[in-house]
Amino acid sequence: MREFGELCEAVANTASRTQKVRLVAGYLKSHAPSELAIAATFCSGRPLPVSAGALRIGGSQMLAAAARVVAFDDSDVAKAYDRHGDFGGALADLMEAGPQRSLFHAPLTIAKVASTFAQAARCSGSGATRAREALFAGLLADATPLEAKYLVKLVTGELRMGFKEALVVDALAAAFDRPAKDVRRALMASGDIGEVAELARDDRLPSATIAYGKPVGFMLASPITFGGRYAELEDGEYFVEDKFDGIRAQAQVKDGQPFLFSRRLNDVTISYPEVAAALRGCSTNFIADGELLAWRDGRALPFKSLQTRLSRVAPDAELLASVPLSFMAFDLLAEQDEFLIDHPLAERRRRLERLPAFSDQFVLSPGTWLRVNAPVDDLQRSDLESRFSAARARGNEGLMIKAAASGYLPGRRGRQWFKLKRELATLDCVVVAVEYGHGKRNSVLSDYTFAVRNDDKLLTVGKAYSGLTDVEIAEKTQWFLQHTVSRRGRRLIVEPEIVVEIAFDIVQPSSLHESGFALRFPRIVRLRPDKSPTEASTLDEVRALAQH
Ligand code: AMP
Repeated sequence: MREFGELCEAVANTASRTQKVRLVAGYLKSHAPSELAIAATFCSGRPLPVSAGALRIGGSQMLAAAARVVAFDDSDVAKAYDRHGDFGGALADLMEAGPQRSLFHAPLTIAKVASTFAQAARCSGSGATRAREALFAGLLADATPLEAKYLVKLVTGELRMGFKEALVVDALAAAFDRPAKDVRRALMASGDIGEVAELARDDRLPSATIAYGKPVGFMLASPITFGGRYAELEDGEYFVEDKFDGIRAQAQVKDGQPFLFSRRLNDVTISYPEVAAALRGCSTNFIADGELLAWRDGRALPFKSLQTRLSRVAPDAELLASVPLSFMAFDLLAEQDEFLIDHPLAERRRRLERLPAFSDQFVLSPGTWLRVNAPVDDLQRSDLESRFSAARARGNEGLMIKAAASGYLPGRRGRQWFKLKRELATLDCVVVAVEYGHGKRNSVLSDYTFAVRNDDKLLTVGKAYSGLTDVEIAEKTQWFLQHTVSRRGRRLIVEPEIVVEIAFDIVQPSSLHESGFALRFPRIVRLRPDKSPTEASTLDEVRALAQH
């Protein structure tokens, strides 16, 4: 584990991707055959292979485990956390400073860590929480501060931000001298980076079998602005379909058994029993990409209806009847033993249409082909915009425009899939509180809580931390520090002077904020130094947007 900790530090300390790849490749190459799969899994930031399920060790369990190993009190934790902005770094400090209770340190190997994590994932029933805590404490007892730091980061998933799977793919290609595209494809088929590492080492990448029952990563889309020049579209054929406002999911059937996976790659089959029932017994094995929608009489219901289902892991009969769901299928990634992601969309779509699986709960997303002659002229622009309006009239969010020749590229946001949406509106909000960020932003005030006006009061409506540049954040940090009204830990209540323009997807009723509303996916568009707080948007405007 020491080498892994040192690798993580070295990777964190270099900005160069090439150098990161070189470091990880060197680390992977140096491993004993039996440890390669674990090393690759850890390097992708995961504590366990995807198929092993969730580890379920939370922050409070980690703290309790740490308290078994080293002495500290609450204020030590708060101070250490303030210094680092992440729990891994904080714990490393506590381990450094606090008296060690254990006298014996067996060197901690990654094999020991992996088998302990696997054991923790298997704990169930009453007492499971304590058992996991004890297992984690056992690891900490043998860990150096550096090792403890990265044990925590593995468990919290924090490492996954710096250690993208794509980096490990390139590192495996470099370590074993294989084409990166072969490693990537094998990973998509098998879903298990540890297994792929072994295939790469043994020169058996093409033999990666499709791991039905494990999720394949999702392909992403790039935004195109409605009303713009559509310069992103190139000469060629595109498939144009509605952009549905539901939640992304992957449907699989293997030997008649259905699986549904969420965008975060969790198995969510149990939450959507009507879709699972519709797929059960299907005679073809396949993997389809699509969107889960609240659906009635051939039409999507508003996202708000779907939300009542999302909060329930296992819906009861009443909820199933009041909010029926369907899976809107728009892509086919595998059929029987054929992995199709390298095949062009045109072919995947043709094969999807022929799938013997469609029903009211598993619907084929309708769409049409469009030949684009770039640059897009007025005629095509108005054609696209009228398709867009038709999609909106059908209750959908906008359009998806997908290049016919493109392969399915999981995890990529490229020039193959475009989403055409129109921002509903933006709101000018007043920043009323700010917080220190995490990771790289742990010493700047980057998380803003903002409010709208109601008479002479300001009522909070949301929180956002993306959108401003580092320079803007740094400048505003200075301002906020000088205009702090009160402070609670990492959160500062500030004078309500700064106005920010906020974009969002929809406005929803919510008990979370004082206004009674929340913005879904809020993003800071820009600072509005030209506006004073008295010109900020009002609660009435928010209320009106909520009716859309
Ligand atoms: P966004 O969430 O705005 O980044 O847009 C991308 C999302 O649109 C995908 O992750 C899907 O959940 C969703 N979506 C809705 N309809 C489609 C469609 N026809 N094709 C692809 N993605 C779609």
